[in-house]
Amino acid sequence: MKPKLYLAIKGFDKHKVSANCIGALLKSIPVGHILGLQSIVFSSAEEFNRLGVSVPLSCQAAYYPAYRSVVIHQNSNIDKLTHVLFHEIGHYVFYSRLSSYSRKEWVSFFGKNNTHVSDYARTNASEDFAECYAFYAKQDWSKFAGVYNKLTFMKSHVFNSSFY
Ligand SMILES: [Zn+2]
Repeated sequence: MKPKLYLAIKGFDKHKVSANCIGALLKSIPVGHILGLQSIVFSSAEEFNRLGVSVPLSCQAAYYPAYRSVVIHQNSNIDKLTHVLFHEIGHYVFYSRLSSYSRKEWVSFFGKNNTHVSDYARTNASEDFAECYAFYAKQDWSKFAGVYNKLTFMKSHVFNSSFY
């Protein structure tokens, strides 16, 4: 039996992005990647600060582990939104869906190679994973030039048949 997904998608319509658009993006990644995720919400950083969750106003999006939720704080255009959505889901996959063995293997990559898929990916192993995850989900293979081991890892450990 296929496990059932209980994922709420909230707050996008008032920001001129349909929930269907988010749903279509989610269909392009394995269902096992978002299993257990509670919600994907659009809520501005100002709104979050008013609720007592302190977020810098420049923050575009974040994954909140305590709520198992991805929150998008800003929407500039659909390309950026797609990237940050997949990036934050990448954090969820890294911490909650990947085996600890695979996670350790990924961490061991970090620091071994000075080439990265983006400047932000240099921050730490978790951001590196989230950036690689986003580029893989967008099928932007050109970003993996020089980091073939990460492309192979994404293919064999993350986007493999066990998650579909
Ligand atoms: Zn991140």
